[in-house]
Amino acid sequence: MTEKTYQKERYRKELEAKVVRTEGADVILDRTIFAPDSGGQPWDLGTLGGYPLKSVTEKGDEIIHTLDSEAEASALKPGDSVKLVLDWQRRFDHMQNHLGEHILSGIFKSVYNLDNKGFHLGDTDGTFDLDTLELTDEMIRDVENRANQAVYDAIPVQVDLLRSAEDARKYPLRKELKVEEDIIVVSVPGVDCVACCCPHLSDTSQIGIIKITGTEKYKQLTRVHFKCGWRALRDYQQKHVDVTVLSERYSADEFTLLDKIEKVENKNERIRREYNDFKTASALAKARELVSGGTQVACAGIEGADMDYLRTITKKMSELAEMPAVLYSDAALCVLLTAPEGSPVQCGKLVKTLAEGGRGGGSPTQAQAVFQEAEAMKTFAEKAAAAMRESL
Ligand SMILES: [Zn+2]
Repeated sequence: MTEKTYQKERYRKELEAKVVRTEGADVILDRTIFAPDSGGQPWDLGTLGGYPLKSVTEKGDEIIHTLDSEAEASALKPGDSVKLVLDWQRRFDHMQNHLGEHILSGIFKSVYNLDNKGFHLGDTDGTFDLDTLELTDEMIRDVENRANQAVYDAIPVQVDLLRSAEDARKYPLRKELKVEEDIIVVSVPGVDCVACCCPHLSDTSQIGIIKITGTEKYKQLTRVHFKCGWRALRDYQQKHVDVTVLSERYSADEFTLLDKIEKVENKNERIRREYNDFKTASALAKARELVSGGTQVACAGIEGADMDYLRTITKKMSELAEMPAVLYSDAALCVLLTAPEGSPVQCGKLVKTLAEGGRGGGSPTQAQAVFQEAEAMKTFAEKAAAAMRESL
């Protein structure tokens, strides 16, 4: 049995322990300050006898410390005294976010009767799943405010070790008990009370900011994303930088920024529509010019065009006449071949057989080729137009 020193001395950062035995890369000690993964919270990290920990898990009444390799573990012999050094920054981050989750869950339960169905703490993001699909912005804001009030109230966290479930059930537990004996009940009086064996902060003020950062539908539940303490501060710092940059870019302050962005977006949308109308009119004029050129096959370079514009021109041409076309653009170094349905012209084949120095392909009625050099592109365009004329 491993003595779980982390449960009693939650702020202890170093400890001397004795090696009980090793198994492969696993080390079992008589006591430990490293908390294993538990209920969605990842394990502590740090060093054991100078070796970095890879993972910490609980198996029966023992805590298994896994090192990077068997060679490292086998250097430790039963009875050896080893120094345990906790990665305190990671632990404190876990404790801030874990207790923050207790408080949020306690308030969601007591105020809105919503149950937390699953908790997960990642390296940058924490989540829990509520048994509802109807979580409103007002509810989120209300719970956030109440949670942060609990932080400002600096409520001492009460941790009680109870021998039996009967004793534990005398507490106003938020969740059903999963074990029958040796139960740790963690209470934030007036806010939350739940059985939990992770290490906790001694009072709520150390959590710092509690912030819900987003929600999403997850199965039949709502997944709530949150950040507490240093994570929440870093999040605020990053968002402050983003808002400052945007404010400068849009010449607005944080209160008028969204309105300003909306105005600019509306203006851009109007310009985009006008531009498209203009482009369509210009493509139609070009198409008219090409179909009335007195040739069987239209072959022309279109200045400054992209592939999309070439396509618009050929589409307009097809509405005016049944005429194969070879259009190219110096700007985009591309060639577009089109032919009416049922025409003997095979656009795709022409690209395959004639497009030297280019790559592309397509169907009998439409094909395209892209080139590295303008010269090769023009040579191909002329050859393709000549082949089209021959096949008619
Ligand atoms: Zn807990």
